[in-house]
Amino acid sequence: MERTVKLRAMADSSPPPSTNGAPTTEQLISELIKRGATMEQVALLKDPTANTPAEALELLKAGNSRFYSGHPQPADVAANARRAQIISQTPYAVILGCADSRVPVEIVFDQGPGDLFSIRVAGNVAENATLGSIQYAVTHLKVHLVVILGHEGCGAVAAAMQGDAARAQEPPHVRFLLDKIEPAVRDLPPIRDHKARMREAIVANIRLQKNVVECDEIVARAVSSGQIRVVGAFYEIGSGAVDFLED
Ligand SMILES: [Zn+2]
Repeated sequence: MERTVKLRAMADSSPPPSTNGAPTTEQLISELIKRGATMEQVALLKDPTANTPAEALELLKAGNSRFYSGHPQPADVAANARRAQIISQTPYAVILGCADSRVPVEIVFDQGPGDLFSIRVAGNVAENATLGSIQYAVTHLKVHLVVILGHEGCGAVAAAMQGDAARAQEPPHVRFLLDKIEPAVRDLPPIRDHKARMREAIVANIRLQKNVVECDEIVARAVSSGQIRVVGAFYEIGSGAVDFLED
């Protein structure tokens, strides 16, 4: 972005910061604010973290490995970084995850404010409202990755595996969600082990919701142009690890 380069040059012409090495984006922002830059100019300087689907995927994998190994980055809530987010947001990925309280996506991927466009609904279901949020992020925020994140022990998937009679007892909007999951788990192969059978069902639901997302016209066009990739992922609560289903 030519304008961003000019802004960097403007900040770079100031005396170098006292720390060794190149100034960080936060230091450049601080200098620009001192020089009276507008909030729009400050927002422009905050480059998107990832510029391709592959880079976005690598950032998520690296963040998750920091999380499950117990070495998360310190939260970046510096005043200047927050100010840079006033005018615009520059998330690089959409996560369609489950509302389950054990799957907080920013923590699981060790990402800060402004990094992820996070959509959470029981069973990570792709339907009109969640597809609308995905379309918005793809069209207006120019994200590079859409992740459908299922997880170990998903209660919504387990509920969808109950028979028709049990599902009919649920409140209407719960039934709406379960009906979106049920086709994924209707014809599972016979697996005796409960844990293995649940994993099979959860992965089948991830694949179904991913397919619905990929069939969206806006998403399909962005995939064809190379702007985005759509990937499924399975979060294991016990270990904290996310397994990307790169099929
Ligand atoms: Zn769930």
